[in-house]
Amino acid sequence: TASATTTAGTTATPATPPEDTTPVQNVLMWFRTDLRMDDNRALSAATALARTVGKSVLAVYVISPQDHRMHDDAPIKVQFRLRNLEMLREKLDKELNVPLAVLTVERRKEIPMRLLEFAKNWEVSHLFWNVEYEVDESRRDASITELFTHHRLSTRPHHDQCIVQPGHILTKGLTPYTVFTPFKASWLNHLETQKSPTTPGSLALLDQAPTPTSNPSTARNAHASLFTDPAFAIPASLPSLPLPAHQKNLIQTLYPPGEPAAHARLTAFLTTKIASYHLARDQPAKDGCSALSPYLAAGVISARQCLRAARRANGGKLRTGKEGVVGWVSELAWRDFYRHVLFHFPRVCMGRAFKQETEKVEWAEDPRGVKFKAWCEGKTGFPIVDAGMRQMKEIGWMHNRVRMCAAMFLSKDLLLDWRMGEKFFMQHLIDGDFASNNGGWQWAASTGTDAQPYFRVFNPHLQSERFDSEGEYVRRWIPELKEVRVPAVHDPSGALVKEEFEKLGYAYPIVDHKQARERALAAYKKALAK
Ligand code: FAD
Repeated sequence: TASATTTAGTTATPATPPEDTTPVQNVLMWFRTDLRMDDNRALSAATALARTVGKSVLAVYVISPQDHRMHDDAPIKVQFRLRNLEMLREKLDKELNVPLAVLTVERRKEIPMRLLEFAKNWEVSHLFWNVEYEVDESRRDASITELFTHHRLSTRPHHDQCIVQPGHILTKGLTPYTVFTPFKASWLNHLETQKSPTTPGSLALLDQAPTPTSNPSTARNAHASLFTDPAFAIPASLPSLPLPAHQKNLIQTLYPPGEPAAHARLTAFLTTKIASYHLARDQPAKDGCSALSPYLAAGVISARQCLRAARRANGGKLRTGKEGVVGWVSELAWRDFYRHVLFHFPRVCMGRAFKQETEKVEWAEDPRGVKFKAWCEGKTGFPIVDAGMRQMKEIGWMHNRVRMCAAMFLSKDLLLDWRMGEKFFMQHLIDGDFASNNGGWQWAASTGTDAQPYFRVFNPHLQSERFDSEGEYVRRWIPELKEVRVPAVHDPSGALVKEEFEKLGYAYPIVDHKQARERALAAYKKALAK
């Protein structure tokens, strides 16, 4: 466990009292974005404590519809969590005899009291959880700690979300890294040189398979109503977040829930795809990446488990060896990087730009929101952007290269505030994850940690030619272009004669890329000169 103070001076994790003398009764594990039993630090620690004193472990998950709305969670993401929760509950029951109770708490500020009530009713003395680094979540945890401490109950936060714990790698000047490449070098160093098996976040600890022990045999009887009481049941869905009809069966077909499904996906990726990951990962038509993001975002699998498996597949190496593995490890490092950024610079959680000077960019007018609407609907007239937006609305997921194209198009070509796009992505992604989404958007909008200056502006036609050279991806998601061959499919209005283009029923480009680029550069230049 640890407490951590960010550079902005806010306490991200409440400190555990150094001498915790609270007598142990039952132990409560609070699941959040860590919906797994294996390699779960808080769960391992909770079960270890209960074992030493012969007490029971109970588990809880809190649903706050208000929280989902405030954080723009996509219905498909919430549904995916509920289905994973069912699998987790079954596994906890079967393998550990641990009951999982679901508390539905409409308003987030009622969560601390409801947890306290639960703890009192079930004779809980210790509450364990894995830390979430976002500001709202840190504040919530601080008030829970205060309340529990006041009632002489103990809280035990654990760091589990990252491969390397935020705060554990800093520059020589002891400041946080703000650029990915040196961060990654230091991250790899840290992983390769960690020696102490007891240091939290060390690789030695990562390689230790946590083995939670079962509850005492009497636990099932003692807590029988937790297993069966409908008040603690997992809802089939949340009425305030109805799943669009076309997504009803997607979870079963595309994203089967549960730890075994996540591990099967990882194994399949490692055996069939990772060897060519570095070649295929940027091509949206190819099935070249892991598609593990929904599972990682919900914590059904841990990033450590992914790293460990990739490392094994590369003879223990992280920097050299198979290029595909090295490339994939780099993506896992990006995931850590954005979490570290959020931890050290909590302003990014408050709708603020990482590069504060870019707050002065004057975004373009968009009367009646026409341009934004065209972007949301995948009707900008730029096929690679439109295909991505339609893919996301259809299946709740978008390929990384296309996320970059769509985000850059909104923030540079349309010169619309990147925060509108960040929100829209969250509202539709099954893998919606604050740190990665915010990091990706700020990267694209040049307001974030990108080392490149603001004049990186993707040309959507060239991106399409380069990364979807046969036009396969674009044709898959844009039926209007089904019959259009290359090269016209990359820029239909520019390549086809007017009559031919009009017959397609596809949108005319809503901006001229060259002019839009000039406008964006001028706006950024002006803002930075202020
Ligand atoms: P793989 O290529 O197989 O990579 C493995 C894992 O590494 C991913 O599952 C993910 O956890 C991590 N990862 C890969 N690329 C990145 C990256 N650029 N940044 C951070 N982590 C990465 N990822 C999310 O998980 N949730 C989001 O909400 C999200 N929003 C994004 C928004 C924008 C504008 C951009 C540019 C990127 C965003 N990403 C997000 C990152 C990335 O697009 C997805 O993680 C990736 O497409 C998921 O596919 P995969 O699992 O096949 O990834």
